[in-house]
Formats: sequence, C-alpha cells, structure tokens
Amino acid sequence: MTLRLFNTLTGQLDPLEPADGKALRMYACGPTVYDYGHIGNFRTFLQIDVLRRFLRLIGTPVRHVMNITDVDDKIIRNSAEAGIPISEYTARYVEAFFEDFEALRIERPEQIARATEHIPQMVALVEKLAAAGAAYKAEDGSWYFRLAAFPEYGKLSKKDLSGMEDGARVDVDEYEKDSARDFALWKAAKPGETSWETAIGRGRPGWHIECSAMAMEYLGESFDLHCGGEDLMFPHHENEIAQSETATHKPFARHWMHVRFLLVDGRKMAKSEGNFYTVRGLLLKGYKASAIRLALISVPYHRQFNFTFDSLADATNAIERLRTFRERLAAGTFRAGENPAIQEAAKKAQAEYRDALADDLNTAEARAPIFELIRAANTAIDQGQFFAADRDAILPVLKDFDAVFDVIEDRDAEPTRRALAWAEKGGRMGDVSPELLAAQSLTDEAIDALVAERAAAKRSRNFDRADQIRNELAEKGVVIEDSKDGVRWKRK
Ligand SMILES: [Zn+2]
Repeated sequence: MTLRLFNTLTGQLDPLEPADGKALRMYACGPTVYDYGHIGNFRTFLQIDVLRRFLRLIGTPVRHVMNITDVDDKIIRNSAEAGIPISEYTARYVEAFFEDFEALRIERPEQIARATEHIPQMVALVEKLAAAGAAYKAEDGSWYFRLAAFPEYGKLSKKDLSGMEDGARVDVDEYEKDSARDFALWKAAKPGETSWETAIGRGRPGWHIECSAMAMEYLGESFDLHCGGEDLMFPHHENEIAQSETATHKPFARHWMHVRFLLVDGRKMAKSEGNFYTVRGLLLKGYKASAIRLALISVPYHRQFNFTFDSLADATNAIERLRTFRERLAAGTFRAGENPAIQEAAKKAQAEYRDALADDLNTAEARAPIFELIRAANTAIDQGQFFAADRDAILPVLKDFDAVFDVIEDRDAEPTRRALAWAEKGGRMGDVSPELLAAQSLTDEAIDALVAERAAAKRSRNFDRADQIRNELAEKGVVIEDSKDGVRWKRK
C-alpha cells in the first residue's frame, strides 16, 4: 500500500515513498518558543503525527526532523524585558511545548534540532551562498539573500513575483537592503542583543536559514518530504527552497505538505478576538486530552477546520463509544463460532479505513467505517449473534485504528493532572472549570470507599443512603455502573 499525498510543489496527489528505499526522510517546521502554543499550532503537529503513524502502519519507517526556533526577534525582546538570558526564557516554553505534545500523544520526531545549537551550520551555508554570489552583506553587517540569483522563486506557492514585494518585506523591514524582495540570512547584532561571533560577523541567524541548515544537516541536501502549516508556505518555505537549491543545485524536498488553517467559530483565532485557545487551557476547562486530539485530527489536513465546543463534545462522545465498545469486547464472554456477516464487516471496515488514509490522509472517511462496524457488532451482540471469532476479527481493526488515532486507550488522567499542577503553580486556578475542580477533589481511594459504602447500604436496604451517594458522586463527575459483574465507576 502506498500513500498518495497532495504535493504543493507539483499541485497534484503524488505517491509518497522513500527515495532511498529505506526510511522516509521528512522535515517539519517546529515551534518558535516565545509563548504557549495554541490549538492551531497543535493541529499542524497532530496532522503530521497522523502522517507518520500511517506511514508506519503501512510499513514505511520515517526519519523525522523537527526544529525548535529558540532565537528570534520576539524571544530576544521578551527575554530582555524579563531581564533573563534567552535560554532561560525559552526553557519554560520548550518544556510546555513537549508537555502539550505528550498530552496530545504526538510522537516525538526522531531528531529535534534547536536553532541555537546549529549556528556553525547556518554560517557555513551563508558563506556558501556568498561564494556563489547569491548573498551579500549590507552596511550594518547583516547578510541578505539576493532573490535575483534564484529565478525559480515562487515555484512552491505559485505566487506572481511582480505582486509580492510587500509580503517579502515583512521579516526584513528593520534592515537595509538593495531590493525589497531580498530576505535576511543573518542579522547583525544590535547593542545588548544575544549574538554569536562568527566568520560572517557578530549576529544571529534569520529564521529561514535555520530550517535549511538543519534539514540538510540531518537529512542530506535532498530529501523526501517537507511539512508545515499553510501560513509557512510563503515566504518561509519559498525562502528555504531558494537558499538550499542555490547552494546545492539539487532539489531540496521532493514533496511538500501544508496543513490548512484552523478557525474558531468561523473566525481567525486571535488573542484580541478572545477566541485564543491553548491545549492546557482546554484541559483546565475539563476537556480530555483524547477529545482534543480526536477533534483536531478528524477533519483532514487539507481542509480548514472550524473549531467549536460542539466539535469537542462530538469527539468526547465518539471516544466514549469507542471505549465502551472495546470494554464490551474485552469483558464479554462469547461462544465459539463466527457470524459471517460480522467477519465480512470487519474485513470491509479495515480495508476502507486504510484506503481512506492512503488517499491523502482522509481522516474523516477513515473514521466512518470503524463506527459503522461498531454499530453492526453491537447489534449482533444484543441479538446473541456475536461469537469469539468475531471478537478476534474486530480487535485487530480497532488496533489499526488506534495505531493512527490513538484515543481508545484511556490515558487522559495524567495530562489533566499536569495541567492542574501547572495552573496551581502559576496562580491560574481561576481558569479551572468548577466541574473539574469538584471532580479533582475526590481521590480514587475516596471514590472506592464511597462505592463500597453504597453497596453496604444497598445490602442493608438503606436505599436513601445508596441514592445519596450515587448523586453525590454524579455531582463530582463520577458515574457508577451496576452490572452483573459488579459495580464499576468512572470519571466523566
Ligand atoms: Zn521552517
């Protein structure tokens, strides 16, 4: 099975396969660590996680490199305001980033590359460009890429060069330049700024050169796939291509994947709009990490996703259905034998699931057959037409599903606990929802004790007390389920 993935560079669905026949070498633009990441950032990382997990499911190993931009204008400004070194300033956001990463069960890339640890590679690349006549030094000591040196500029975003001068000025407007479209490779140090003394002068790297230098350091001059959010396509990715291909005369990445924007209630997410959400912020509102993950991946990467609280509620319900069903299979005792219709349904669901993901990672279409299978199986169980071999046929389908979606296994307690600890430490307990606070006021042991007390009350026919305990637990988000195997409880 081969994944066919939309390639921004060619404008069509192309098969995605390792050029070296071994591992798929891929680079993904990582975070700039000057603040907590928002759910739009994490939607991109989650969709890239779907990609790498699906590749592995179909037997393609990946070598995935992600950068961390730990020096830039905002970081320098903010750390100066806080009066601390940039390394100290960024440390807390790096830590928070990986906490959120883990909460959402995004797999760690094989290689994480920090910009500040790769300055020599960036300097070497600027020197190479300068030797080729494609980079020049401005009067203040900053270095620029001469866009005229790369006639193919614009081939990724398909932008018309004549109309894009304003866009290209954005990240270079503080510097002198002989053409509005040229962009900074290296920024000369201003007094008091964090900088490095190098062969091309004292300063710090521009953002674009970081990704080119680190991608080539770990993946070689040419590699299989470059990913990122759609907002990076221009000018960042265009500039990466210009620098890299001018330096090497080889194609940089063969395949480019761009994850589309996230909207909130149909509008662009912005702090000023009051619709800006972080992962930890949603956890503190009482949403489960698995629900955030499922909501953010259920709309395919190539479509805009309109985030709403309804979408989170839908994801919460879907996860509940998945987990309840898996529990039903695990806890039930089924007679030997098989139901041919269920056998057929399991095969069909698995094939449709994989085909949908192989078709440009269509997560929405991939989910559908899984839930259809659950409905069919539940009906068969209710009618006594479900057998041990049916369970054995369905469990691998759920395993396939969770290899990519990863929401059935319940690991939601830990991220919530960590978010609460973070809120407590940072004096943000006011952001915690009252329901979550109430639920957290009960330890597992306290719940066990109340459940035991309720059982004893029922045995002694003290039904008032039994009901009272059930209601008290319900108010704190704990649901009791009486079944023939005994009493189970769970947090909502
Ligand atoms: Zn990048």
